[in-house]
Amino acid sequence: MGCTAQDVIAALRAGAAVVADHRDELVELDRVIGDADHGENMDRGFRAVASKLDTAAPETPGAVLKQVATTLISTVGGASGPLYGTAFLRAASAVGDATELDGMAVAAALQSGLEGVVARGRAEPGDKTMVDALVPAVDAATAAAAEGAGPDRVLAVAAAAARTGAESTEPLVARKGRASYLGERSAGHVDPGARSTALLLSAFAESRS
Ligand code: ADP
Ligand code: MG
Ligand code: MG
Repeated sequence: MGCTAQDVIAALRAGAAVVADHRDELVELDRVIGDADHGENMDRGFRAVASKLDTAAPETPGAVLKQVATTLISTVGGASGPLYGTAFLRAASAVGDATELDGMAVAAALQSGLEGVVARGRAEPGDKTMVDALVPAVDAATAAAAEGAGPDRVLAVAAAAARTGAESTEPLVARKGRASYLGERSAGHVDPGARSTALLLSAFAESRS
């Protein structure tokens, strides 16, 4: 079963709900190694995404993703707004004007999203950023899609890998973003952006099950 614009919208609404539920947790993670606003930034952005979808629901997956990108860029601010915005913009370009996405298309959208984050932020794996959740997610998604998995399975494996990837940031010393100002003291804490990436992907996956 393919992934339609309605499915993408449902996934984003699930994402907004999960971000709202975990707002305080994301604030707390960012308090320790940043400036305590990641939960607020993400909640503001995804509330805006959901309310924009109430007034204008685009008709293709790509158009929905593009609307999300512009909404996040204009509402989130901080480092994560342009990064997530670029991810959704690249994902939108990757899916083009297809009306339904198969597993390969979903994996390609995730891959393009990761490329957008890297183009924008120049973080490498191990720098303790959202890239550490996205890289394993894309690898798992790509492998599953190559074996013929549909969107449900592709998103499920991506979410599981992102979760592990986010947890793997705990011992790392940050080399990008605000947390890098702490140097060695950033070790011992999960990166907030990696955690929000994992939360979003698990919401997207669960919206389909
Ligand atoms: P800010 O740091 O401006 O307050 P947020 O708190 O919303 O913005 O977002 C912080 C998150 O952004 C970090 O936890 C990290 O995952 C991510 N991040 C910061 N800089 C980069 C970068 N250069 N590349 C990838 N991700 C980054
Ligand atoms: Mg912050
Ligand atoms: Mg900030």
